Formats: sequence, C-alpha cells, structure tokens
Amino acid sequence: MASDNSTTTASQIAEKIAESGIDSGDFRLSKTFGKLNQLGDAAISFEAFVDIVSEELLMVNRALNKQLIIPDWQDFCADIKSIFDQVENNKGGENADYIPILKMADSEKWGLAMCTVDGQRMALGDVDIYHSIQSVSKPLTYAYALAKEGVAFTHEFVGVEPSGRPFNALDLLPDKRPFNPCVNAGAIMTAGLVASSMPEDDAQTITGLIMELWSGLCGAIAPVRFSEETMLSERDTADNNYAIAYQLKAQKGLPRGVDLYKMMDVYLSCCSIEMTAKMLSVAAATLANGGVCPITGEQILSTEIVKKTLAIMQAAGMYDSAGVFTLEVGLPAKSGVAGAVMVVVPNLMGFATFSPRLDSYGNSVRGVEFCRELVDRYTFHIYDNLSGGRTGCKRDPRESQSNRKKRDLSDLQWGAHNGDLYANKVKELSVDCMISICIADGEIEDAEIQSITDAYAEIMGQPADHSLITRLESLGRGQGEQSQAANSTVFDQLVGQLETERLYLDDMGREIILESAFRVACSDGVIEESEQRQLRAIANALLISEGVLELEIAGFQRKVAALSPPS
Ligand code: GLN
Repeated sequence: MASDNSTTTASQIAEKIAESGIDSGDFRLSKTFGKLNQLGDAAISFEAFVDIVSEELLMVNRALNKQLIIPDWQDFCADIKSIFDQVENNKGGENADYIPILKMADSEKWGLAMCTVDGQRMALGDVDIYHSIQSVSKPLTYAYALAKEGVAFTHEFVGVEPSGRPFNALDLLPDKRPFNPCVNAGAIMTAGLVASSMPEDDAQTITGLIMELWSGLCGAIAPVRFSEETMLSERDTADNNYAIAYQLKAQKGLPRGVDLYKMMDVYLSCCSIEMTAKMLSVAAATLANGGVCPITGEQILSTEIVKKTLAIMQAAGMYDSAGVFTLEVGLPAKSGVAGAVMVVVPNLMGFATFSPRLDSYGNSVRGVEFCRELVDRYTFHIYDNLSGGRTGCKRDPRESQSNRKKRDLSDLQWGAHNGDLYANKVKELSVDCMISICIADGEIEDAEIQSITDAYAEIMGQPADHSLITRLESLGRGQGEQSQAANSTVFDQLVGQLETERLYLDDMGREIILESAFRVACSDGVIEESEQRQLRAIANALLISEGVLELEIAGFQRKVAALSPPS
C-alpha cells in the first residue's frame, strides 16, 4: 500500500483481504479483521495500517499480494461457478429411499464448497444444509481406528482391496476379512475395532469422540450434529447390515469379541452424524493438507494416517464405480447416500458437493458430474502431471492464468523473431486459424481483416506484415466468388492439418493457436453459435479439452457482461 494513500478505508482493506479467499472469521487474521471491523468506513493512514496488521503481517502480506496457493482466487471462483451452474441442470438419479428422511429430502438442493490448503474458501448454493454424512463417515472411522489401534491390528480385521461389489454386499476376502473400510462390511468392522477399544464406554460416547474428530477436521466452523431421527430409521431398516455383522462375527470373529449391537450402534450412529457441505469441504482440505486443518493450524491426524486414508478413498471411496472414478477423475473421494461427495485434491484443496439424487452405485449424480467437469478443466487428476506438458491445455490454478499466458506469448514472439522453427510453425498455424475462422462463415469483410490484424499484433507482438495483409485482401476479394462449400472445405483442411501437426505441438503451441482463433471469433463482442462450433472443432483437432474451451467462452461472456451497461 502506498504511504500517500490516506483515503483507503478499513472496510476496503477488509474487502481486499476477503477477495483473496480468506474468510473474515479466519483465526489467522482474527486481530486484523477485529480492528478493521471496528474502524468500518474510517479512512486510515499507512502508519495506522501498519499498526493494524503488524501482529499478523505475514498472513496479511500473503493475502494481499497473491501469495496464497490459488493466486487469482476471484477468477478461479468465477470459473468454478460456471461449472456449478452447468451441473445444476442435471436432474438424473433418484434420492435414496430406504429411510423417510432421505426419501423426503429436497432433490433439487445443490451445493458446492471448496477450501484450499491455505484456507481460501468459496461456497455456492445449498452449502449450509445439514444432512447425514452416511458413508462419508467411513474413511474417518478407519482413520480413527488406525490412530487408536495402529496399522497392524486394524488390518488384521479389515482389508485394503477394492471390492468391485455394491457397498452393501455381503462378500468378504478369501481370508474372511471385509474388502476395505469404505464398504459397509469394512466400516462395520472398523466401528467394531473402535467400539472394542473402549469397553467401558457406550456407543453414544464413542460416537461423540468420532464427532470430535470431525469437528477438528472441519475447523469447528459450525457444530457437528447428530440426527436421532436418522439413527432410529437406520436401525429399523438395517437388516442387511445386521446380516453383514453376523457374518463378520461368524467368519472372522469380531475384534476383542466386541458386542455386535454396540458395534452396529457405533456404525449406524456414524452414518447419522450431520454436517454441511461447507464443513465437509474444510475436512477434505485438512486431508489435502496432510492432516493439518488449514483454518485452525491444528494437526488433527498424523500425515501417515492421512496418507493411508486417502489411498483407501482412492481405491474404494466410490464403491463399485471407484475404478471408473479413478480413471476419469483420479482423486480420492467418498460419497454418502444422503447425497454428499467429499473430494481431496492432495496439496491443493478439498471440496464437497451436496445433491441428493444418486446413480445406481449410490453416488450423487451431480457430485460425480461436477468432479468430471472439474478435472476436464484443471490438472487435478493424479496423473495429469505425467503427460509431458500435453494435458489437453488444462489449467493449473496454482499459477496465475494471465501471467502464464503472457509468458508463453513472449516466448513465442522471441522465438519467432529469432528464427526458431517451432515458434514459426505455431505462428503460421495461428494465422491460418485466424483466416479460416473468418472465411468459414462465408464473409470476409474489411472489419474482419482489421480484427485479424489486431489479433495478430497482440499475439505476435508486432504489427501484421505486408504479405499477410495482401494475402487477406486477396482472400477477401476472391472469397466473394467462392461458394459456401468451398469455404467450409478450407476450414476442414485446416482441421485436418491441425490433426496432423498436433503430434509435434506442445500445450503452449496448442493453446496459442486456439487463443488466436478465439480472439478473432470474439472480436465483434459476441461468439456466435457457428463460431463456437468452429472453435470446438479447432480445440478437438488439437486435443484441447472441451472444458478448457468452455472456461474461455464463459470468461469472455463475463467480461462482455461486465462492460455492458446495466439494463
Ligand atoms: N446408512 C447406509 C448403510 O448403512 C450408508 C450407506 C452409504 O452411504 N452408502 O447402508
């Protein structure tokens, strides 16, 4: 902040900090926000500012100077909102109907909350609705068992293999252990482990301790609740779960011969814990952050336990669609039949969705679709970093998008200027794309020639040279005599050429080519349907993920909306 800027008010500073994603309730800035809130709209001097922030200087500096893990937080939030809105249209699936409270839940509800490992938070839609966490409880009951009983003893009773079977199946491993802690049989067993470790305590007290774990994980941003109604209905309809429990008792035997009903009460009570999407997102962020809650700084679970918990979630968190989920999304996640999905992007963030309609595996339809769409746009799949720079041009929000674009363009310009063959190839293909996107709609007018030369100047960092302008003008003249079919042939040829060239193009080259076409397509302030189709064809030819193009289009439309006067 400049020392001569004495007109800044306290609330403006508070707002600026909030724009970085740091919530005004964040403990790390409690003193700063406390003082700023007291001062309200009072103008403050630079000296007063220094005084206000001095005790939390490092954190304030990080928030104000874009040093948090997602630097362009507002842009990221806007992009996420575009995915959120798109997924809302999906009305597929059905509520769970085995107990009234889930059957009667409002199917339209849709919420998404995110929290980064730096505690940047966003929330959209129905994020404050308490719902039973159901199977989302399972990995954490496992983590609790590991912490209390150790790895060796825990795994004497529960396996670590994906089951490939529905979550409520009675199947066991050949050695009679349940497949893993994320299916009912495994979760009943881990509930038994925890129950058996506290012989003096009843199921209610034990559940209370597990709720304390959840409270620590979610930074106690709101109280963890228990739904008596859910618990009673669960118990009434738990024949299959009791069958599983009896089978465990008969086959493997229960840990320390724990009472089967106490074990089941702990299991069913864990399913009946109630939380909100906001709370689950912070819990997921704590897992993403190796067990340290980002918004309280407290180590809730050891990193070793978190590592194992995430591995199990990856292998089995989405039940018998865990394989497809790993293939397509590639992130550790856990769903529950009330409609929650809790997802961890290791070292970056956690998020949770809530939408009650489920697919045939028991996973929230919108939750799963959101994950797919997210990973189609961002390099979050665990193996996205394998692709030698060819991720489909997906974004990494850890880096400022505009800085990266600037850096790539200046690399290209420098290379092309100095005769680099690759840079010149990218430049040629970019120009071809600009031209054919103009020709394809059957008109190449003076205004379009102007838009190409403008886009060229921006991308290449120098004015369009004489030969390009002559080429454009002769195309403009000749084009009038061309049929529409011939014009589309030019475009098809370009697509064919891109499909061949893409083998040699890295993400930077591909992105600059698409960007060139994009700038010409939107130079008149709108991207027509036909232009969107062409951009899609170019993106497809370059193997750029469709989602990335959607982000570009949505970003452009936001810019246009921000510029147009309110109606
Ligand atoms: N209460 C449910 C059961 O025990 C939990 C299952 C789930 O969320 N997938 O079957």
